[in-house]
Amino acid sequence: MFIDTHSHLYLWELQYHIPEAIEHLRENNFSHTIQIGTSVETSEICIELAKKYDIVRATIGIHPCEAQDIPVEKIPEQIAALENMLQTELEHIVGFGEIGFDHYHLSSDASEATIQQWRQIEWFRAQVQLAKKYNLPVVIHTRNCSELTLAELAHSGLSVFVIHCFSEDWSFATKIFDISAWAKISFTNILTYSKSVQIQEVAAKIPLDKMMIETDAPYLIPEWLKWKVSYCEPVHSLHVFQKLCEIRNETPEIIESQLWNSSCNFFHL
Ligand SMILES: [Zn+2]
Repeated sequence: MFIDTHSHLYLWELQYHIPEAIEHLRENNFSHTIQIGTSVETSEICIELAKKYDIVRATIGIHPCEAQDIPVEKIPEQIAALENMLQTELEHIVGFGEIGFDHYHLSSDASEATIQQWRQIEWFRAQVQLAKKYNLPVVIHTRNCSELTLAELAHSGLSVFVIHCFSEDWSFATKIFDISAWAKISFTNILTYSKSVQIQEVAAKIPLDKMMIETDAPYLIPEWLKWKVSYCEPVHSLHVFQKLCEIRNETPEIIESQLWNSSCNFFHL
């Protein structure tokens, strides 16, 4: 069985295709898809999806690209809104995130970008406290700021977290596992792109029990479907699995069962 550990069915490319996307998962032996919140509003949508479809579980949290534009004065109010979801809907919530750091989508205005970077840190630290309070695994987003992410993770005291949409190198991966023996790395269909040599190296070398697969749908269409489909959907995590089977030594059966076990353990499914 398979689990797509990270996608966003509610985004516009997919939001009118949700029943088909769920059906495709059922037809292909998926037990779950984890719907990832990026704001208070989308976290609520993830919970609604989890209530509607038994195959869906939700995470809640505020993405760094959202956080960077929300004044820190709003932190108490939004943390309270997230905590309210944890108190009332915990049966549908399996993790916290995606939270983290993104220096790729900052303002082109240097002083605004500095404020945005600072806000990302403040929002991250506040959300980590909430995730720890409820003992939830944390989904980490990082882009173009690997040193900051490593420093903040080391300082956070988090142990059960996943680096989602892994797009770093071997050195970053080893530093992540130095921070926590329970950390995971999750691969998207970036793994299928021929230019992704460094990411393929990491996916071939790290222990199988340290990895999970995801799509980040509707983003990141698999390389060999790029001319055939206009959006990625959760079932396309099968292409990540297929690529792993190509580049690793274990049999497909072992890879499938280990990925499924790791994902179930990580999210307590
Ligand atoms: Zn995402």
